[in-house]
This record gives sequence, structure tokens and C-alpha cells, in this order.
Amino acid sequence: MKYAQSVVELIGRTPLVKLNRITEGVSATVLVKLEYLNPGGSIKDRIALRMIEEAESAGLLKPGGVVVEPTSGNTGVGLALVAQQKGYRAVFVTVPKVAQEKRDVLRAYGADVVVGPAGVPSESPLSYYGISDQLAEEIKGGYKPDQFSNPAAPNSHYETTGPEIWEDTEGKITHLVVGAGTGGTVTGSGRYLKEVSADRPQGPVRVVVADPDGSIYSGGEGRPYFVEGVGEDIWVKNYDASIPDEHHAISDAESFAMARRLATEEGLLVGGSSGTAVVAALKIAKDLGPEDVVVAVLPDSGRGYLGKIFNDQWMIDHGFGAVVSNSTGVEISV
Ligand code: PMP
Repeated sequence: MKYAQSVVELIGRTPLVKLNRITEGVSATVLVKLEYLNPGGSIKDRIALRMIEEAESAGLLKPGGVVVEPTSGNTGVGLALVAQQKGYRAVFVTVPKVAQEKRDVLRAYGADVVVGPAGVPSESPLSYYGISDQLAEEIKGGYKPDQFSNPAAPNSHYETTGPEIWEDTEGKITHLVVGAGTGGTVTGSGRYLKEVSADRPQGPVRVVVADPDGSIYSGGEGRPYFVEGVGEDIWVKNYDASIPDEHHAISDAESFAMARRLATEEGLLVGGSSGTAVVAALKIAKDLGPEDVVVAVLPDSGRGYLGKIFNDQWMIDHGFGAVVSNSTGVEISV
């Protein structure tokens, strides 16, 4: 009989699929890695598993322990499901602006969610970082993984995401395109792919960061943008700036238009940061030849954004009306 012992065993080993329609006129092969096929629905399942396993080995997380992390998004889901399967409780700290639905997902997995006050500076003890530090300290057996600084996060990508891409492309990948939020993906998978390809005749894999316009990684000032999960307004420990070879600043409108095209033209219902990655992938691919193999990592599903990117009214209300009218391509008169 073929089955997994637990859902945790199903994390990783996600497939690559070729883009066919939106790549019209491009001679390079453009492949995307479908991270939404992880059991928790995103790439973050990988770091959740590794952070919890390393904490167990280091004796930081013991039976009856409690995982405490300031997150409301994909990392929370990954941690919630891994913690639950391994017999730990999970407590997440979020801010009020986070959609109720995201808190509901975490609670559905049996996690506790604490909502901190709004408008508190990140260095305050009442910020969601501050509250999570205090909870991790005060709760018996509390442990805070801290995805922004925990080396287990990039390590998980060095040991799984990178090798999977290398094996599945049979060492033919020429360009890796990834977004960077906490930096784990680019640091870990980028480092692995550069190392493993260092001595081949065509040169090492080029690592391309697809960044929201405004984020500091691509030279912005850290101004806000709507794409979620990628970009930063401060430098974080897990982002190794020596890994990327180039950065592309992509606007919200471009990212959202591409996310919608991926759904309607490639059958891939993915989130905004996947749109960002594919826009950057196409920007570089148009100047490449038939020998080139571009791999873009698509971090999560579009299901979490049905009320935003895939909702015409939300798009119009937030200034993306042009994307809506272009993507339907149909004139409707009443
Ligand atoms: N996209 C989404 C939707 C994410 O949640 C994340 C994780 N923050 C990323 C991209 C970026 O990944 P990383 O944190 O590894 O840089």
C-alpha cells in the first residue's frame, strides 16, 4: 500500500510545470514550481517543518511545548499543522488589519490566535513582535521559531527546494526567479543552485529576485505596496544579499494582472507574489535563447486572495481598474 504516515511527510517534492500561453514569442523554457501543492497550501510548510525539527533536536521544544510566532499568514498555517501533528500547541500573534479569514484558518487547525493592538511601532512591547516575545517567555514550554532569523528556514530550502529544482531540470536550469520576504527561499535555494552549478561549462545558475516596487531589496525606500509576502522595509537576517545576481522591481498592477492571467490562461490559481515572480521571469526570458531554462517559484495559492486580486470591485477600488478591464477582454454593454 502506498500512503504517507502523516500529512507532514507530504511537505515538499512539488512539481515543475511549463508555461505555454503567456510565454508566446519566448524561446527559453519557462517552468514554474507549484508550492501551493504543499499540504498547508504554501512554500512555508517547508520552513515550518525544519524549524520545529531543529528546535526538537536542540532541546528547545519538548513534549507539551508551545510554538509561538508573530504571523497570520502562510508560516502560521505551516507551523499550525506541523505543531499539531507533533503534539505541540500553537499560538499566533496578529494585528487587527489581518483579514478575519486568515485568523479563522489558523483556528481551524486548532491554533490559538491573539490579536494585538493596531498602530503600535514594531519596537514596542505591545507590537505583535513584542507580544510574541513575552508569550514565548511566559508560557511554559514556549518556543518562538522566528522565521526572519532562524537559520533552519534557509536551510530547509538549501536541502529541499534547491535540490528538487536541480534534479527535476536535470541540471539544466540557467535562471532561478524567486521573491524575497523573510529571505529564506532566495538564500537557501539560491545558494544551493549556485554551488551545485559552479563548475559547469555554461556557468552557474543566475539568481533573480522578483521584488515589489517600493521594497528595499530592489533599491526602494520601503514604501507600502499591496502584494503580500514579499519585499521588506528593513534588512532581515535570513536575506543573504550576496546570493542574488539581479533584482527586478515589479508594480502591484503588473503582479496582479499576471496572477489573473496565470489563472485564466495557464490554469494556475496562484497569489500575487507568484504574479511578481512570473513577471520578472518573462522580463528576463525574452532576452534568452532556446537553451535557457528559467524556473520561477510560485509560493502560494490564489484561494487566499479571492476577495482581493480576483475580486473586480476590490481591484477597481484600489486603483487596479485597468487590470480588470484588460483581463476580461470582453466589452459588456447593458
Ligand atoms: N510569497 C508569499 C505569499 C509568502 O508568504 C512568502 C513568505 N513570506 C514569500 C513569497 C517569500 O518567501 P521568503 O520568506 O522565503 O523570502
